[in-house]
Amino acid sequence: MSETRDRVRIAVQKSGRLAQDSLALLRRAGLVFRESRDKLFLYGESLPIDVLLVRDDDIPGLLVEGSCELGIVGRNVLDEQRAASTGIDFPLEHRALGFGHCRLALAVPDGGALARPADLAGLRIATSYPQLTAGWLRAHDIVAEVVLLNGSVEIAPRLGKADAICDLVSSGATLAANQLHELTTVLRSEAVLVRAARTHAAAITSQIERLCARIDAALAGNGVRLLMLQAPRSALAALERLLPAREPASVLGLDGRPDDVALQALCGADLDWQHLEELKRLGARGLMVLNVERMLA
Ligand code: ATP
Ligand code: ZN
Repeated sequence: MSETRDRVRIAVQKSGRLAQDSLALLRRAGLVFRESRDKLFLYGESLPIDVLLVRDDDIPGLLVEGSCELGIVGRNVLDEQRAASTGIDFPLEHRALGFGHCRLALAVPDGGALARPADLAGLRIATSYPQLTAGWLRAHDIVAEVVLLNGSVEIAPRLGKADAICDLVSSGATLAANQLHELTTVLRSEAVLVRAARTHAAAITSQIERLCARIDAALAGNGVRLLMLQAPRSALAALERLLPAREPASVLGLDGRPDDVALQALCGADLDWQHLEELKRLGARGLMVLNVERMLA
C-alpha cells in the first residue's frame, strides 16, 4: 500500500555502473541533496524530491508498490521484470538517458560449430535474463533450454553448464577474455527514466512533471554549443552557409558599427576547429564557443 506523502521519491542505484551518472543527472536537473546517516536516502533541499539509493533490481518493484514515483534503471532490468510481471501498473519508460549503454547479446564459444542463431536449437543457454532470452527465442522460432544463472554467466560454457550465454556486453572484453564471441543482439539498453504507472495526487503529479521536464531540459543541452562571433555584414550569407547550426542564427546590429553584426548560433557537437578557422577566413572575429548547460524551449 502506498502511504500519503507530499514529497516525490526517485529510486537510483546505490553503487554500481549507473550510480554516479544517475546522481550527476539529478544534480544537473537542479536537485540539491542532504545525505541521511544511513546513506540510503538523500533529502532534497531545493525541491520536494528525495532520492532512495537501492539495488538496481529493486527499482521497478519499488515503483509498482508505490514506495517511489520515479526511478533510473537499465532498460534490460526494466524489460526483464516487465516480461515477468502481470503487466498491471508496471512502470513506464519516460525517456532514455544517454548513459549506461550496453546490449544483451547471445554469445557462443570461439572456434565452435555455432555460427548462426538457428544453430542454438536444442542447446542450453545460460543467462540472468530468462524472460528476455526466452522471448527472443520464441520470436525467432528457436526451441532451446534457458538455464538461469545469477552471476558469472560468462564461465558457464567452460564449466559445461551451458552451450551458449545471453549476457550484457559493452566493450566485449569480458566475452573475449572467456573465449566467447557475439552471435546476435537481443536488446539494446541504456539507463532510462521510469515513471510509476499509477495516478497520484495533483501536487505529486506536478512535481513529477517538473522533474521530468528538468531532466528533458538538462539532456537537450547535451553536446549543444553556442557559437558567438562578430563579422562584417557583407560576410553574413557566407558565414551562415558554413555553420552546422540547429536553427537559424540570431543576428544583432552593433551600436555605431553599421557595417558589422554580432551572430549567435546553437550548433551540434559537430562544430569543430575547422569550422572556426573557415569562419575566421571569411572575416569572423572574436569567435567564442560555449557549452550549453540546459535548454528550455
Ligand atoms: P546492484 O548491486 O545494484 O544489483 P548490479 O551488479 O546488478 O548492481 P551493475 O553491474 O552496476 O549492476 O550494472 C547496472 C546496469 O548497468 C546494468 O543493468 C546495465 O543496464 C548497465 N551496464 C552497462 N554496461 C554494462 C556491462 N558491461 N555489464 C553489465 N551491465 C552494464
Ligand atoms: Zn543488480
